[in-house]
Amino acid sequence: MAQLIDGKAVAARVRAEVKSEVSRLQAERGLIPGLAVVRVGDDPASQVYVAGKKKAAEEVGFRSWEHHRDSSISQDELLALVHRLNEDSAVHGILVQLPLPRHLDAEAIISAVRPEKDVDGFHPLNAGNLLLGRPATRACTPLGVMRLLEEVGCEPASKNAVVVGRSNIVGKPMALMLLQRNATVTLCHSKSDLPAEVSRADILVVAAGVRELVKGAWVKPGAVVIDVGMNRKEDGKLVGDVEFAAAAERASFITPVPGGVGPMTIAMLIRNTLEAAMRGVTPSSH
Ligand code: NAD
Repeated sequence: MAQLIDGKAVAARVRAEVKSEVSRLQAERGLIPGLAVVRVGDDPASQVYVAGKKKAAEEVGFRSWEHHRDSSISQDELLALVHRLNEDSAVHGILVQLPLPRHLDAEAIISAVRPEKDVDGFHPLNAGNLLLGRPATRACTPLGVMRLLEEVGCEPASKNAVVVGRSNIVGKPMALMLLQRNATVTLCHSKSDLPAEVSRADILVVAAGVRELVKGAWVKPGAVVIDVGMNRKEDGKLVGDVEFAAAAERASFITPVPGGVGPMTIAMLIRNTLEAAMRGVTPSSH
């Protein structure tokens, strides 16, 4: 029977580390990290995510601002807001909550954020630097997964790591981070032979957004299973992309949903913001 990976507890530790760094920064340099969150429209899930991010930011002693705009905002108006935040020296991190309404060009908005302030790690410069193995602000969810692996003593080198899902915000950066740590990485998507690929995984990370897509019987005995998926059931409860109970019979470690990867994403956002503040935000700092 697998041991549960307590993402909530690890995330609380990460936030506590950040909080003590914030006190030190404030005492030694009079610097308070600032996080600006931009939310457009009234997507209920976005509202919950943004509230969680703002709460975490305040708890660790950051300044935080939520810029909520009506869904009718134009591309130019939103770009103007991003440019203003880019120029604001109290703001070290800028996060534009996705998804944006359809009439807005999310890629152009993300690209307009100064890479030094892109604490989500979604800017093409940060994504490209990750690909090249250079220092970069890395996407929060896969970064959180790497921290969970570390916490359970799972060393990726020489392991077969299988990532299910190839989105730009989870699957692809996840595969690159595992590759950087010398895992042998397989990146799966909807055209892959999932049962065959999953059954070879020593480390399995699933981020497909399909409820219980990965069957417990496919899991290699002893595998470390990280379930990024968050799917809402009819009764309102959250479930992951992995058939949890059956997978837990075979895995050595497994993340629950909720309480696994979710809290880590916010904790890593907080860490990325602290690091952005510590680096200073001069354009040449990268
Ligand atoms: P996405 O929809 O952008 O990407 C999903 C990926 O899964 C695609 O690359 C697609 O090819 C693949 N996929 C879809 N169906 C598949 C199938 N049947 N077989 C194999 N691959 C399949 O999603 P995303 O933004 O990467 O998010 C994935 C999941 O992770 C969602 O449930 C999302 O809610 C969750 N998520 C959680 C966190 C967190 O903090 N816990 C953060 C981001 C995303």
